[in-house]
Amino acid sequence: MDGDVLTRPAVLILLGPPGAGKGTQARRLEEKFGLVQLSTGDLLRAAVAAGTEAGQAAKAVMEAGGLVSDEIVINILRDRLAEDDCQQGVILDGFPRTTVQAAALDELLDETGQRINAAISLEVDDAAMVERISGRYTCGSCGEGYHDNFKQPKVQGTCDNCGSTEMKRRADDKAETVASRLEAYHAQTAPLVKYYQTKGVLASIDAMGAIDEITTALGDIVSDAL
Ligand SMILES: [Zn+2]
Repeated sequence: MDGDVLTRPAVLILLGPPGAGKGTQARRLEEKFGLVQLSTGDLLRAAVAAGTEAGQAAKAVMEAGGLVSDEIVINILRDRLAEDDCQQGVILDGFPRTTVQAAALDELLDETGQRINAAISLEVDDAAMVERISGRYTCGSCGEGYHDNFKQPKVQGTCDNCGSTEMKRRADDKAETVASRLEAYHAQTAPLVKYYQTKGVLASIDAMGAIDEITTALGDIVSDAL
C-alpha cells in the first residue's frame, strides 16, 4: 500500500436511522481513534458563529428562510477538514444525504487528497425498532425511563424511583411516527448505500444487538479501513 495515502486524515461516513444509536457509537469512535464527528447542524452553527465566508453565506440563506445549498455546506466542510483537530480523521454524520452531495464530497476529497475510508451503514429491523421506540416512556417527575415491554415499574403507572404517577410519552415516539420516519430514512438512504457499495467502501453492521457488541463490530471495521 502507498504509505502516503495512509497518512491522510481518514473520512468515515456513518449511516443509520434515528434511534439506531449513531450518536453513542460516533462518540466511542471519536475516543478510540482520535476522530472528530462532524454533523451538518454543528458544522453550520460553528461556521456561522465563527463568521467565516461560507458561514456568512449560510447565515444569509437561513435568515431568508432558505435551505443552505450543497455548495455552501461543501465550503464549510472544506474549511473544517483543514483544522487541526481533524488531522486524524472525521466521521461524517448527516452528510451526504443524496448522491449529488456524495459526488460533491468526492470532488472535495479529490481536492484535499483524501478519500472515503468507509461508509458504514447501521442496519436495523424496522418492526423491532418500532417496538423499541414506541414503547418508551419516562417519569414526568424524575425522568426515570421505562418501557412497555422491556422495563415496567414494579407497580403499574408508579415510578420505582420517586413514586410519581405522572408518566410521559413523547409524541415523536408514537408507532406510526416511528414507522414513517424509518420509511423516509430508507427511501433517502437506499441510493447512497448503493453509491458507496459501487465504490467498494460500504460496510454494513447489525445495529440491533447490544451497544457494546455494536461498538466492537464498528471498531473492527474502522481499524481495517484506516
Ligand atoms: Zn420518578
